[in-house]
Amino acid sequence: MSTIAAISTPRAAGGISVIRISGENALSAAEKIFFPVSCKEKASEMKGYTCAYGKISDGENVLDDGVLTVFRAPKSYTGEDVAEISCHGGIFVTEQVLRLILSKGVRPAEAGEFTKRAFLNGKMSLTQAESVMDIISANGKAELRFASALKEGALFRRIKNVSDSILKLLGSLAAWVDYPEDDIPAVTDEEIFETLGSAVKNLDNLLSSYDSGRILRKGIDTVIVGKPNVGKSTLMNMLSGCERSIVTDIAGTTRDIVEESVRLGDIVLRLSDTAGIRSTEDKVENVGVRLAQKKLETSELILAVFDLGSEISAEDISVAESCKGKNAIAVLNKSDLEQKFDFSGIADNFKETVTISAENGDGAERLSEAVGRIYALGEIIPDTGILVNERQRSCAEKARNAFSEAVNALRGGATLDAVNILIDDGENSLLELTGERASEAVVNEVFSHFCVGK
Ligand code: GDP
Repeated sequence: MSTIAAISTPRAAGGISVIRISGENALSAAEKIFFPVSCKEKASEMKGYTCAYGKISDGENVLDDGVLTVFRAPKSYTGEDVAEISCHGGIFVTEQVLRLILSKGVRPAEAGEFTKRAFLNGKMSLTQAESVMDIISANGKAELRFASALKEGALFRRIKNVSDSILKLLGSLAAWVDYPEDDIPAVTDEEIFETLGSAVKNLDNLLSSYDSGRILRKGIDTVIVGKPNVGKSTLMNMLSGCERSIVTDIAGTTRDIVEESVRLGDIVLRLSDTAGIRSTEDKVENVGVRLAQKKLETSELILAVFDLGSEISAEDISVAESCKGKNAIAVLNKSDLEQKFDFSGIADNFKETVTISAENGDGAERLSEAVGRIYALGEIIPDTGILVNERQRSCAEKARNAFSEAVNALRGGATLDAVNILIDDGENSLLELTGERASEAVVNEVFSHFCVGK
């Protein structure tokens, strides 16, 4: 494989820049431009995990001074010989050093090519490679925690457990189908059911954690609904008071839509349409109501607010009805007033009910717990490995469906050959997930999202 190089630090002026060279000729190329001052050895004679201070020069002019770090195959990021040159962090000087390296028979690295080589050389699984990108783009603590767990191979191990048990089953099935006359013990239907059943269960657990994981990482798209005067704005203010993070004004619409994110314990609620909710003027209220209606259809979470201090009205009932079957929480507000609201008739439309007094700032914690229960957030432990992107989710789902189809086929009296094909399909999806049997197209797609230098 050719030797490649790229600047691995951001294209911006900084204290230091790192230029990474990887491949068979990495050390001999480094040797032609880096002249150690702190040691006698040339780059090609340096041991792995050692570094030297020296001059970077084209042979006539010194461009800069810096530090060379040597990694010897296979003990490097890519699994190949790697030289990393740290020089001063100016954009111009860094590019000059890179250009010099590229004149020594080294070609520019493509986006994600270092990590791709690490994957191809067996240094990491595809899911681990994906986590490298997640770590770079992590915005918050939860996101970083998930990415790090992925990097440690938690998901890979979890999938591998399932995939190994299926491989074993496939092995016994093949032996039995191919050599019926030999004395190979028959694979019983019970064994097949047991292995497939436990694979389906494991994959179901994994799949159900996908949404919760995404929610912990990215937040929940939330809408607040309710008839006028029940306390929606007051609830908004209460939540914003907890910790306001982002406020965006998107101009140019019929009226400004305000979107803000509030943090509720570990969870981020992305509340939108607050301008509509806050409006009082009739004409504008209409726009707000329409927007809110649309939001209601597309949101991941609905907070439906009711006023405990007044009798239930037709409007309340219609709000409740539009919540049916959705992830909706009934927020019974104004608990400080005398209770006139009869909730019993509409309670069934909601997954959770929380009593609060928005004005007194009472109930945020109970609301947070209710959201946590809806999304089963308490059960998410990053270290056990979870699916973090659509590619992974779709592979896991395909595998799950294939195994469950195999169970049904066997129950329906299908031949072992037919069942075998379904199990094999599922196994292929698992191997695609981990990258053990991913097509070149899949691998290229994963790495195309990387930046150059990674
Ligand atoms: P919205 O039209 O649904 O946005 O309702 P507002 O938030 O504007 O509240 C309507 C009225 O109810 C205001 O006068 C609030 O002060 C009052 N209100 C809101 N929450 C509470 C509460 O928890 N207790 C009491 N007693 N009044 C409240």
